[in-house]
Amino acid sequence: MTAIAFIGLGNMGGGMAANLAEAGHEVKAFDLSENALAKARAAGCTIAQSAAEAASGVEVIVTMLPAGKHVQSVYQESLFAHADESTLLIDCSTIDVATARAVADAAAGKGLIAVDAPVSGGIAAAEGGTLTFMVGGSDEGFARAEPILQDMGKAVIHAGTNGTGQAAKMCNNMILGATMIATCEAFALAEKLELDAQKFYDIASVSSGQSWSMTSYCPVPGVGPQSPADKQFQGGFAAGLMLKDLRLAMDAAEGANAAVPMGKRARELYEAFVEAGNDRLDFSGIIETLK
Ligand code: NAD
Repeated sequence: MTAIAFIGLGNMGGGMAANLAEAGHEVKAFDLSENALAKARAAGCTIAQSAAEAASGVEVIVTMLPAGKHVQSVYQESLFAHADESTLLIDCSTIDVATARAVADAAAGKGLIAVDAPVSGGIAAAEGGTLTFMVGGSDEGFARAEPILQDMGKAVIHAGTNGTGQAAKMCNNMILGATMIATCEAFALAEKLELDAQKFYDIASVSSGQSWSMTSYCPVPGVGPQSPADKQFQGGFAAGLMLKDLRLAMDAAEGANAAVPMGKRARELYEAFVEAGNDRLDFSGIIETLK
């Protein structure tokens, strides 16, 4: 049993904190939302009145916040001043590589070990404890984080030094955004060429056009396993979050002087899709704009 502070109990963090409590850890939870706090209390967490209060007297602090600026401010304003010297800091939020490295450096300056551990898998995986964690940090940081992350996930992989967990997340999601659009446009073209969607799936899913976007998350209703397409694109992975990840990837690519023409086009298409009011729709719903 480990004493853990959990800060950021939203769609993802709520289920993750509940799984840590369920695994027998002593979880001190904090969020700005009263509703999120009430759910955490019902899931067996103790409620803290502030991030600073949550951070003191625990062995591990997990954050699951919206973006880099939230992580930066919670770390700077609450965690660095109140965490014990031996406390491990694990940030599971999806944020930019530069901020992940900056907070890890600032933590090291205070004698603290920090790792970035963004996740693959959505709200259902957070609730079901089946997330994949990609971890950036030292060997010691990873060794200490791994058993805690195992209690919230099905796979915990050490990507490398600080920031490489975030790099893995954005490179993965850049592939996802581009392959989803490619899969959608192929289904839209097949329809116009009078090729039945199920027949196309049967062929492409065992041919070189196969991808996760096709065989695990098919954007066409009634084809392949159950996916958001079968529920009018409700639930699933929101287009707004896909756009956030593509923007992070494009910013990182610019900083690294990397050529990412497909990622750039995917970002432009998701930008237009989100601006048209589809922010909360599943990202595979972009097929509707291609038909
Ligand atoms: P969310 O908006 O539902 O939750 C974020 C929570 O952080 C909110 O409850 C908010 O009140 C809280 N918060 C914000 N500032 C705070 C502060 N200063 N102190 C304490 N609490 C604060 O977001 P989410 O969907 O849970 O996503 C969290 C992170 O996980 C994001 O970085 C997102 O990109 C990433 N992610 C989300 C999904 C998904 O499917 N939702 C999947 C993978 C990764």
